[in-house]
Amino acid sequence: MTGHRVFAPDHLRRVATTIVEAGGSEPAESQVVADHLVLANLSGHDSHGVGMLPAYVRNLKAELLFPNRTPELATDHGSILVFDGCRGYGQAVGKMAMQQAIDRAKASGLVLMTLRNTHHLGRIGTYGEQAVAEGLVSMHFVNVADHNPYVAPFRGAEARFSTNPICLAMPSTDSQPQVILDMATSKIAAGKVRVAFNAGVEVPPGSLIDADGQPTNDPGVLHREGGSLLPFGEHKGYGLSIFAELLGGMLSGGGTIQPGNPRSGSIINCMLVLLFDPRRLVEHDWMSAELEAYVDYVKSAKATNADEPVLVPGDPERLAREARADGIAVDEESWDQILAAGEALGVERSALEG
Ligand code: NAD
Repeated sequence: MTGHRVFAPDHLRRVATTIVEAGGSEPAESQVVADHLVLANLSGHDSHGVGMLPAYVRNLKAELLFPNRTPELATDHGSILVFDGCRGYGQAVGKMAMQQAIDRAKASGLVLMTLRNTHHLGRIGTYGEQAVAEGLVSMHFVNVADHNPYVAPFRGAEARFSTNPICLAMPSTDSQPQVILDMATSKIAAGKVRVAFNAGVEVPPGSLIDADGQPTNDPGVLHREGGSLLPFGEHKGYGLSIFAELLGGMLSGGGTIQPGNPRSGSIINCMLVLLFDPRRLVEHDWMSAELEAYVDYVKSAKATNADEPVLVPGDPERLAREARADGIAVDEESWDQILAAGEALGVERSALEG
């Protein structure tokens, strides 16, 4: 394994803001992107943290990502909103489109929102958190396109789609934090293969196959040799991935990853979001008590390993935020790539080191 450095979250926020601003973003946009990336690191998802900056800079320079875009409301049917992200930073246009959908859902009780043609949305749980912060339940189906596929279908030895994430989010109560399932439909996120590759470590068994369809733990097969990630949960995860593609990609109008659509080497996300106010369905105090009792019951199960208690989705991210509050480790290779990305935009390495 290569070495790593530990940075205060504020330092990484400064690094990300500086690089994104050097790429032409207004300060407000660079702040949103930086906050999103560093929160991903804090939440334990380095795959979607500051290590994405080199890819963003590559896409900026290739004119596949454009700073300072706002989401365009393509269709407004009251409770159905269709947005185009105009290839802007996903973290920024995603947050803005979500806020419009949230405002509408708080007034009407229910909104179906789609957002197509946005550059990488990042950690989808961020949008689930945005919804639950306003007391709404949200469900997100996302496809990833505009590049060659790298996840194989169940029974397949060749890639046919990407890591197509899904997120389901339930608001907190006074004593139970929000429950948020936020996951790639591949066995692991592609960024985790990048992080393992940069750090010189293997990926967990069952995550990858090589170009011949044989199992491997070597993250290099995805970078060098035409290997593929596998869907989680065999045919079931594969089926969910198909629906992330159909709901997020097709029904947003953005398109699936089928080869008739463009593949310009960027990262385009399309997302379908269902947002609703649970208070329109059940009485609030009853729901809170029911959620607390249910989670308590689930967590009361005897653990198979005493060191690994039963958790609910969202707990690992909360625990990571506590553990990483004072320092986030970045491997040397990823750090060097980040500094090089800054340099490519005219930012001195020394300006990012301090
Ligand atoms: P993961 O496997 O680490 O976690 C997935 C989910 O499982 C999380 O909700 C987590 O809280 C939950 N979880 C983990 N351990 C648990 C336990 N012991 N008990 C109960 N719940 C548990 O995440 P991942 O699938 O590697 O995805 C990482 C990130 O990548 C996500 O934030 C996702 O949105 C993001 N992603 C983004 C894109 C994109 O194109 N924008 C694509 C793929 C993934």
